Amino acid sequence: MTVTTIQDKASREELQRLFEAQRAHQFQVADASIRERKAKLKALKQAIMVTYRQEIRDALQADMGKSQIEADLIEIFPVIKEIKHALSNLGRWTGKHFVSTPLAFLGSRSYVEYEPKGVCLLISPWNFPINLTFGPLVGAIAAGNTVIVKPSEFTPHCSRLMAKIIADLFPEKEITLVQGAVETSTRLLELPFDHIFFTGSPKVGKVVMAAAARNLTSITLELGGKSPTIVDETADIDTAARRTASGKWINAGQICIAPDHVFVHESRIDDFNAALSRHLDNFFGGDATRSADYTEMVNREHLERVKSYLDDSLAKGASIVYGGQINRENNRMAPTVVTNVTPDSALMQKEIFGPVLPVIPFRDLDTLLKQINAGEKPLALYIFSKSSRNIRYIRRQTRAGTTCINHNGIHYFHPELPFGGSNNSGIGKAHGFYTFEAFSNSRAYYRQVWPTPLDLLAPPYQKWKEKVVE
Ligand code: NAD
Repeated sequence: MTVTTIQDKASREELQRLFEAQRAHQFQVADASIRERKAKLKALKQAIMVTYRQEIRDALQADMGKSQIEADLIEIFPVIKEIKHALSNLGRWTGKHFVSTPLAFLGSRSYVEYEPKGVCLLISPWNFPINLTFGPLVGAIAAGNTVIVKPSEFTPHCSRLMAKIIADLFPEKEITLVQGAVETSTRLLELPFDHIFFTGSPKVGKVVMAAAARNLTSITLELGGKSPTIVDETADIDTAARRTASGKWINAGQICIAPDHVFVHESRIDDFNAALSRHLDNFFGGDATRSADYTEMVNREHLERVKSYLDDSLAKGASIVYGGQINRENNRMAPTVVTNVTPDSALMQKEIFGPVLPVIPFRDLDTLLKQINAGEKPLALYIFSKSSRNIRYIRRQTRAGTTCINHNGIHYFHPELPFGGSNNSGIGKAHGFYTFEAFSNSRAYYRQVWPTPLDLLAPPYQKWKEKVVE
């Protein structure tokens, strides 16, 4: 495995030039007919699904050792689904959305129309480099914007390939991809974009929000954090363990909505751990670090970061019930389940974003929910339970961007559901209509058709008061 990152090359002047070119061209892009916008989406679909499909799989394999099946399932198909959904709904989304007319406004018609925001910036992370770059781009194109794309420096094969695909399909004055790292991102954030769509960590989300504030640029922040799972005493333990295992260890746990840690009712924790171990054996065989179906850590630094969290917890009394192996030759860390993790250890203080899963017993739901609510609002909160009462109670007594009941992660793929966090885990929503909306200004139109008595509401007010009120 060769670890490479992309260096910052684009000068401030070059970025300014691209920005100005898009600014000058934005109204032409915005004015494209629905048929033309659809043609652009279809061209992107053809490129991802057919022309570049194998190159995308190869780039994902080169950057992260992703299997072809996972490349298809979690990188390519979700983007295709976004495109198909946009193609089916674009006519409705871009149409006039008429609203009812209150009596006082008699003689008028009013509607909302979604107009493109203009010149947009899209910054994406490394964990699903294709999906999290092209996914939001679909919404930006559907809404009629120009876009500068800045993907992660840690997945260089994917970034280079996406630059090629975009250059193949679009003139740079419409959509262009700039390769680079933090410096490039920082320079881009100085420009007065009309919208910034950022996917990444809460830490960098704050940098993006501060930069956007200088230009009063609107933002969508798709962030991360620690997403808990609750497995109560009524849950189907085998199903909960199987779904947790697949939700956690796809992409080696490098997923924003992976269950970060699991709270299991103390009466069921041994059963849960046994089921988890059994399912992991079935998924990856004895040694996951040698399984072709198990993804690498994105780079050595990231592997060592997760290992250091594990070591910190072990030093504070935690124990490994499954996994723990590390293979530095291919940069893999086995699925690892730990118990007896103390709240002050790194595994409970930081977003794990890797293949280690703390399983923590709880006795009483109220105490557990207080503990969860003491942390930041999660991007996802998962509940495994057969008790409607418990489910309702957890729903009402917690706050989270999204929730799955008796599953995890699967909501991400539902095109009608808004995806995103709340405060620390994100601002604004994405997917389907919600990405289109993020890249649009909902412009209000009021049209006076007939004379209106409201015209009487003009000075001198004394005269009006005498006539109408008294
Ligand atoms: P990151 O925040 O470090 O980087 C994301 C992007 O921001 C990259 O393109 C990077 O070059 C750029 N960047 C980094 N530092 C910057 C700075 N100081 N100024 C400007 N730009 C900067 O995130 P990451 O490590 O690539 O991804 C992991 C994080 O992303 C996790 O927290 C994860 O939960 C989150 N995430 C969220 C979602 C979601 O949809 N909500 C999806 C995937 C990942």
